[in-house]
Amino acid sequence: MTVMVPSRTPAQITPGRQALDSALHQLAQAAEHLGLDEGMHAMLATPRRSLTVSVPVRREDGRMDVVQGYRVQHNITRGPAKGGIRFHPATDIHEVTALAMWMTWKCALVGIPYGGAKGGVAVDPATLTTRELERLTRRYVNEILPLIGPEKDIPAPDVGTDEQTMAWIMDTYSVNAGYSVPGVVTGKPTTLGGSLGRAGATSRGVQIVALAALGRSPEGTTVAVQGFGKVGSLAAQFLADAGCKVVAVSDATGAVYRAAGLDVAGLRAWTAESGGVRGYRHADALSHEELLELDVDVLVPAALEGVITAGNAARIRARLIVEGANGPTTPEADEILAAQGATVVPDILANAGGVIVSYLEWVQNTQAYSWSAGEVELKLRDLMESAYGEVRTLAAERGLTLRQAAHVIGVGRVAEAHRMRGLYP
Ligand code: NAD
Repeated sequence: MTVMVPSRTPAQITPGRQALDSALHQLAQAAEHLGLDEGMHAMLATPRRSLTVSVPVRREDGRMDVVQGYRVQHNITRGPAKGGIRFHPATDIHEVTALAMWMTWKCALVGIPYGGAKGGVAVDPATLTTRELERLTRRYVNEILPLIGPEKDIPAPDVGTDEQTMAWIMDTYSVNAGYSVPGVVTGKPTTLGGSLGRAGATSRGVQIVALAALGRSPEGTTVAVQGFGKVGSLAAQFLADAGCKVVAVSDATGAVYRAAGLDVAGLRAWTAESGGVRGYRHADALSHEELLELDVDVLVPAALEGVITAGNAARIRARLIVEGANGPTTPEADEILAAQGATVVPDILANAGGVIVSYLEWVQNTQAYSWSAGEVELKLRDLMESAYGEVRTLAAERGLTLRQAAHVIGVGRVAEAHRMRGLYP
C-alpha cells in the first residue's frame, strides 16, 4: 500500500508531530484497505474536540509558573471518550492528538464501548514537589472540567501520572459536582473505587499477547524491556514469572544487562529505592541504544513514541516486538522489520489491557459493585485473547501485518458506527 504523508521542514518535525504523522499514515492505510470515502477518512483523521489550556502553578517559593495542558477527544461515536493523562515536558497538541486517535482504534478493536481521548501537560513531574504536583493537577482538571465526566470523557494514568494523580482528579471533579463521582477517572486507588487488577492490567495484557505470539514454551525465552515504569516493570515481572529470561531493562536513568537473567523483583525494589535502574549492582551497564539492538527473542518497548526508526530498525535483532508503549515504531521502521521477518504485536492490541480494565473499573463504579481480582483477570484475558485471535486471523487471510490488520478492524468498526448513526443534521 502506498500512502502519502505530507513533507515537513526539520523545524516542524517535533516528536509529537512525528507521532501524529505515524498515526495518520496508519489510518490512511486502513482507510485505503477498507475503501472508505474521502469524507469519512477526513472525519476519522481529525479530532472531534481539542482543548489547549494554560495552567498557572504556584511554586513553593511563591513564584507562579504557567504550563501548557491539552485534552483531545478524537472520537465519541461508539461511547464516551477514554484516555490517559500524560505529564511530560515534551508533550504537545500533536502528540496528544496521535495518542487520542490510537485510543479510538484500540477501544473499537477490543470491543469496549468507548471513543478515544488523551490529555497532557507539558511538565516534568520530577521537578515539582508533591504539593506543587497536586496544585498543578487540580488546576489542570479545573481547566478541562467542561469536557470530562463519567458519561463524557474518562481520564486514566499515563506517562508521569499515577493513582495518586487520579485520586486528586476524582476529588477535584467531585468537589465541583457536590457529591462523589468515582466513575470520572479510572486507575484510582482501590479505596476510592479503583478496580482490583488495574495497576498491572496493561502489563498483564502485554504478557498475554507476548506468550500467544511466541507460540512456544516461554522457558528460556530472552527478553529486553525498554522503560521500567508502570507498564515495563510489571511486564518484565510477569514475563519472568511465566519462565522468560529478562536479560535487560532500561529507564530514563540508564540500562542494565545480565546474560543469566535479571532478578526483576530485586531490580524493582532497587528502582523504588533509588529512583532508577542505574547503579543496580547485580548487572552490567548498557547504553539505551544497545538495549534496543540486543540479540534477544522478544523486545518490549514500554517507554515513549518513535524509538524504533528507519535509523535503527535494521539493527533490531529481536524476532518478536511487543509494543507496551504507544507508537514506539515509525511506519518506515515497520517496513524494515517486516522485511526482516520480525513480528510486531502493535500497541493498539498489545497495551489494550489497561483500557480494558479501566472499562471494567468504570462498569463497577457505575454499578457501585466490585469484582474479585480473579474475575477481573478472566475478563481481561478473554478480551485480549479474542482480539489477538481476530487480528491474527485477518492478517493471515489478507496478507497484512498485525498492525495493519488491527487498524483495519479498529478503524472499520468506528467507520461502521458513523455510518449507522448517520451525519447530524
Ligand atoms: P511511566 O511514566 O510509568 O513509565 C515510563 C518509563 O519510561 C519510565 O521508567 C521512564 O524512566 C522510562 N523512559 C523514559 N525515557 C526513556 C528512554 N529514553 N529510554 C528508556 N526508558 C525511558 O509510564 P507508563 O504508564 O509505564 O507508560 C509507558 C508507555 O506505555 C507509554 O507509551 C504509555 O502511553 C503506554 N501505555 C500506558 C498505559 C498505562 O496503563 N499506564 C496503558 C497503555 C499504554
